[in-house]
Amino acid sequence: MRTTQFPLNTVKETPADAEIASHQLMIRAGLIRKLAAGLYTWLPLGLRVMRKVEKITREEMEKTGALEVLMPGLQPAELWQETGRWEQYGPELARLKDRHERDFCLGPTHEEIITDLARNEIKSYKQLPITYYQIQSKFRDEIRPRFGVMRSREFIMKDAYSFHLDQESLQETYDAMYQAYTNIFNHLGLKFRAVIADSGSIGGAVSHEFHVLADSGEDAIAFSTDSEYAANVEQAEALQPTSPRSIPSKELEKIPTPGQKSISEVSESLGIAPQEILKTLAYVQKVKTPQNEDKEAFWLLYLRGDHELNEIKTRKILGEFRPATDEEIEQHLKCRAGYIGPPSKELLKKSEPFNWIADRSAIHMVDFVCGANESGFHLKGCNWEKDFLEIPISKLPKGHVADIRKIVEGDPSPDGKGQITLARGIEVGHIFQLGTKYSESMKAGVINEGGKNQIMIMGCYGIGISRVVAAAIEQNHDDKGIIWSANLAPFQVALCPMNMHKSERLKAASEKLYQDLLAAGIDVLFDDRKVRAGFMFSDMELIGIPHCIVVGDRGLDSGTVEYKARTAEANEEIPFADVIDFLKEKLA
Ligand code: ATP
Ligand code: MG
Repeated sequence: MRTTQFPLNTVKETPADAEIASHQLMIRAGLIRKLAAGLYTWLPLGLRVMRKVEKITREEMEKTGALEVLMPGLQPAELWQETGRWEQYGPELARLKDRHERDFCLGPTHEEIITDLARNEIKSYKQLPITYYQIQSKFRDEIRPRFGVMRSREFIMKDAYSFHLDQESLQETYDAMYQAYTNIFNHLGLKFRAVIADSGSIGGAVSHEFHVLADSGEDAIAFSTDSEYAANVEQAEALQPTSPRSIPSKELEKIPTPGQKSISEVSESLGIAPQEILKTLAYVQKVKTPQNEDKEAFWLLYLRGDHELNEIKTRKILGEFRPATDEEIEQHLKCRAGYIGPPSKELLKKSEPFNWIADRSAIHMVDFVCGANESGFHLKGCNWEKDFLEIPISKLPKGHVADIRKIVEGDPSPDGKGQITLARGIEVGHIFQLGTKYSESMKAGVINEGGKNQIMIMGCYGIGISRVVAAAIEQNHDDKGIIWSANLAPFQVALCPMNMHKSERLKAASEKLYQDLLAAGIDVLFDDRKVRAGFMFSDMELIGIPHCIVVGDRGLDSGTVEYKARTAEANEEIPFADVIDFLKEKLA
């Protein structure tokens, strides 16, 4: 390709709404252009990269035996009503009506459509297992589209769905997909980790997310220092402390703490560490009465001062809940937020029982500081059994002590091997054992060996193809621009002649070299624009071409060209006659 025929749409200015490097670089390097919030056009250069991601993905899908299909983006509401997701999905689902006033949506994912296909096409157990996949546009009306194509409203996904007679067969395909994903991200040259993911509302189901590691990633991942354990932070279990609880040695004392409401304010003024302070959070849970009426219940959640509530874990226990308002706190505890703590035995005698959960680390605390349930005061030297509980900790009914916090660096790994370290990641893939969630509600069954109808078991497997491009840039760039891995680069080699338009000799030599490179099967971008050498180099660095060959009049005299790898500090001189062999070796 020549830059006179394949225009580079590079721009100098960093767009004001681009917060992270990949978004800035995708605009500056001319890979994408914004149409509206969360909607982007892929320019030729960007599309070349995305096609490479698609190609590698397709090859690995084919290796697993998955069959490519193409399903419509526009989907009838009836199928979504069958699974109940028409109601459940919420405003992220882009809904519309056709000219006959019939309801449709733009597909955010295709479980309903593929399950409909499967129930019509698959009749016998003999056709199983089977996996279908497609690479196609998805639509999600994200509440906060941002970071360019990283979180957009229309994006390209590879989605695959598998159908099975039994769990064993599902596990086999799941493992094959896990391996295919590992191969894909390895081929793409990305540093990534597969992590145990939250199985959402379908408790117990197996799920892994694939994360590209990058400091600006939206997700936090927990790893073990000593084992293969890796999980989404939301999912990683914080274990029960193993050390025995210390013997309490202090007496309760009320201390004035005017104006000190937060853990950090209290810890600073008392000169104690946050882990010596008990954090009390007030929440309101939505519950149904036996008569099926909506009611609200007030809850106190206890955490060690340096820990944070994990809402996903807590939601698994409480269902829907929200923080209590200041008024609700006043009403239940007769004090201002910031001074609340576990109700004292005296308070308990005068009031209704409180709902409460203590995190495993919180119940382990002794001689701690906490709010006094009196505005402007805290308590010092507190101990659970002496000051707050009517029964010993060991006799507490089940449910009062639970894992409700986020795991932190240095915690023991949940698999018992090593400690937890944290890193940030960008979710680029997600594999999931669905079970019969869709096949059951849509009655997707086959005739089994015994001649009876049997509901199929399903798995689903997604890769955010367009997000992968952004994630690759997020992980691999420098102050000059993008650094592509060999398999992602839009072109392998840039051919940059210096001031070719002033030298017929150089022009002829460059043209010949270009033709020779093409003939050798090298994917080369020939910069034949009439621009200054410095401008040319900075464009090639910005768009991230891995290998650059510079030819000039002086080099022609000495029979050499200059070679520079995108990530190398200095240029290398190589004989003109060796260029092709030299590059072939680099690209091998
Ligand atoms: P996220 O938590 O980032 O919203 P998700 O869990 O909703 O992702 P899935 O439904 O598992 O995502 O979709 C499969 C893949 O599609 C994700 O792993 C991700 O790579 C990609 N993806 C999801 N939402 C978007 C989006 N708005 N823009 C670009 N890619 C996306
Ligand atoms: Mg999402």
